[in-house]
This record gives sequence, structure tokens and C-alpha cells, in this order.
Amino acid sequence: MKKIFAIFGDPVSHSRSPIMHNAVFKNLNYPACYVRIHLKDGSKLRETFFRLGLSGANITVPHKEEAFKACDEIRGFAQKVGVVNTIVNENGKLVGYNTDADGFMFAIEEFENVKNILILGAGGTAKALASRFLQDAIQVDIINRSEGRLSFFKEIGCQTFTWDSYKTKKYDLVVNTTSAGLKDEELPAPKEIIDSVLNNTNFVADAIYGKLTPFLHLAKEKNITYKDGADMLLGQGVLANELFVEKKLKKEDINTFMKKSFKF
Ligand code: NDP
Repeated sequence: MKKIFAIFGDPVSHSRSPIMHNAVFKNLNYPACYVRIHLKDGSKLRETFFRLGLSGANITVPHKEEAFKACDEIRGFAQKVGVVNTIVNENGKLVGYNTDADGFMFAIEEFENVKNILILGAGGTAKALASRFLQDAIQVDIINRSEGRLSFFKEIGCQTFTWDSYKTKKYDLVVNTTSAGLKDEELPAPKEIIDSVLNNTNFVADAIYGKLTPFLHLAKEKNITYKDGADMLLGQGVLANELFVEKKLKKEDINTFMKKSFKF
């Protein structure tokens, strides 16, 4: 019987995950299909997952922390950060993982000598990336528009700022993990902060993919080496697919067909 996988999010119509995962299933003759589910209320995730008879799912903005709560068991890196982007149905038990952080490490392999990073935003993605960077002894600062979400980052050893308290520093890499620029044309912080941040970094990355966000547009204007979230998307997708197919397909083959799907 065909297995069904899905991506849950709000918004979700922009997601390329169905194209990526279906390309793997189709080309490697794996009996499964992958659909999009627009979920407004994250607390309905578990109930919706089982009602639709899903075998696994990815979770995107803004439900990754809710997904952590929905699971019966959490494995690996997700335990550390409380953020889940991949869930697998193991005989009726929901098992949660986080593949975003390792996906991002794959994406920034080409940026050399990254020792200190500024993360813009303090949501689920920021939590995963910050914890992963600290694991590699990379220094991490965080700037967020509101104070509320910063306590997690203080506790794990990041220096934290709000827009009001930010002081200019030098960074090797600045990463936008806010959703500013996803559905709108906003910068992730006031223009004077973004100008100062961009004038003091070697590299720039955005978690958003498929468009040049206002943040990346400014980086481009300033001739800074930048990349959007496409490689992160590929990295997290390959790792998630491996979990979905219970390692029955080869990682290199998953990578090949997922990468090809980016061309359409
Ligand atoms: P969350 O909802 O958990 O966090 C969003 C963060 O963005 C919060 O810190 C929030 O600040 C901030 N924010 C939202 N809107 C604005 C704004 N207009 N100006 C400034 N800050 C803002 O989201 P996620 O961490 O799950 O996802 C963040 C982004 O990363 C999304 O765009 C998502 O699509 C992308 N992403 C891409 C991936 C990829 O594979 N390429 C993987 C994972 C995520 P506050 O605390 O003040 O509300």
C-alpha cells in the first residue's frame, strides 16, 4: 500500500517539499506520495496526522515547537532544542527529529573559517541553528525584535540583543531566520541595524528560499557573498527522506533526485 507523507505549515503553499520528496519516491520506485496541508492551529497537528493516516511529515513555520509537544518520543538533536521538523509514524507512535540544523551545516560548508555568527530571529529555526553552532564551538549572538524568546538563547550561552540594545560587532556570518521577507517585503530589523550588520560581516545566509528577500537584496548590493535557503532545504530534505524510507534508499540517490527537482 502507498504511504502518504505531508508538510504542515501556515503558510504552506510556497513549500517545495512535495516536489522534492515526490521526485525521490517516483524516480526510485518507492510506493509513497507527499502532500501539503495548510494547518492554522498547531495544536491540531497530532489529531490531523492520524486522521489522515500519514506515515510521516515535515513541519514548517510556525508549528515546529508545537510538533515537539505532539510527539511520543524525541530522538537526536531535537531533544536538545525542543524543535521538531520531521515526524515519523512508528507503529502508531509519533517519533520526532530535527534535520534543519544538520541541513544548514551542509549548506554553509563552502563558507570557510566561520567562528562567530549573528542570528537574526529567535524562533524554532534559530534555536536549532544556535545549538548546532555552539556544538562546533562557534560563538553565537542573537538579535530579535522582541525580548520574550531570548531566554532560551541566554541559557545555552549566546549573547542576546533586541533591536534597542544591539551594538555593532564583527561577524564571519549573519543568518536571517526570521520570516521577514517570506510573504512580505520587510527587512528582519530596522534598516540602520541591517546596514550596520551587513557592513560588518564576511558572509550572509537566509533561511528563506525561492526568492531574493530584501535582506539578501541588500547584501547583494553591498557585494557580500550570500546564499538563500535552498541548500538548507535540500540538506534537511535528504535527511528527512532517509527517515521516511527507513534507510531503504541510498542517501546518494535521494540527494541526486532531490537536487534534480530543484531545477523545475
Ligand atoms: P518561527 O515562527 O518559529 O520564528 C520566527 C521568528 O521571526 C521570530 O523570532 C519572530 O520574532 C521573527 N519575525 C517574524 N516576522 C518578523 C518581522 N516581520 N520582522 C522581524 N522579525 C520577525 O519560524 P521558524 O523559525 O520556524 O522559521 C523561520 C523562517 O525560516 C521561515 O521563513 C521559514 O520558511 C524558514 N525556514 C527555512 C528552512 C529551509 O530549509 N530553507 C528550514 C526552516 C525554516 P518574534 O519573536 O518577535 O515574534
